[in-house]
Amino acid sequence: VTEGAGTTLPVEIRPGLAVGAGRPVVIAGPCSVESPEQIQEAAEVVRRAGASLLRGGAFKPRTSPYSFQGLGEAGLRMLAEAGERTGLPVVTEVMDPSEIEVVARYADVLQVGARNMQNFRLLTALGRIDKPVLLKRGPGATLEEWLYAAEYVAKGGNGRIILCERGIRTFETHTRYTLDLASAVAAKQLTHLPVIADPSHGCGRRELVAPMARAALAAGLDGVMLEVHPDPTQALSDAAQALTPADFQRLMVELGLAPARA
Ligand code: PEP
Ligand code: MN
Repeated sequence: VTEGAGTTLPVEIRPGLAVGAGRPVVIAGPCSVESPEQIQEAAEVVRRAGASLLRGGAFKPRTSPYSFQGLGEAGLRMLAEAGERTGLPVVTEVMDPSEIEVVARYADVLQVGARNMQNFRLLTALGRIDKPVLLKRGPGATLEEWLYAAEYVAKGGNGRIILCERGIRTFETHTRYTLDLASAVAAKQLTHLPVIADPSHGCGRRELVAPMARAALAAGLDGVMLEVHPDPTQALSDAAQALTPADFQRLMVELGLAPARA
């Protein structure tokens, strides 16, 4: 992935939509798919505001085994349906090699979560599929370890990899993690892969998400992933970091990515 370093090779999601092609890509949606109504409403909200892809977790890597674990395949179906209805490709996490087949049936982009960044069997198996992989950085991983993780996917023949900086563990406790934008920019300089940032997980606080999203794009990253919930007070996961529809709309205007009004 370090070949041709510094010149980003775009990763095509579908004809007319690529990450790393110049125009920043916004991936938005709830942390988790919770119901058909919730994901459909989220999809409409983010599409109207100008997002290019819809996100939503169905297989959730939760810190506590007693927390909501996601809806599994039923959630994938709801996500794919909301994506189809709004015309948005969908991104969702795959946690285990045994679930790649089912996730790939519904998803346009398969996400490797931060906790699985060094799940080498998962990475190796994703190297054999022909869909893009969004590879999140582990909270305890160095830049070099992150790039080697990408190398595991690429080695199998799948070069369609998008790197995602989502915050690392530091001594700071005010924020959930520390969004390491400098390493994200370094990843762009050291590889040919597109790199995006996820300030939602990086900060864990909705009031910091918009400023850090602006910072990420100002630094030249290829996009952002943002958690948006129709009603964050009702969110089953990551409620504190979810943007409201109004927050998201405002941010998209600030970023100059909101569609022109008809
Ligand atoms: C997510 O994007 O839903 C997620 C769980 O993020 P991370 O793996 O970065 O914690
Ligand atoms: Mn989340």
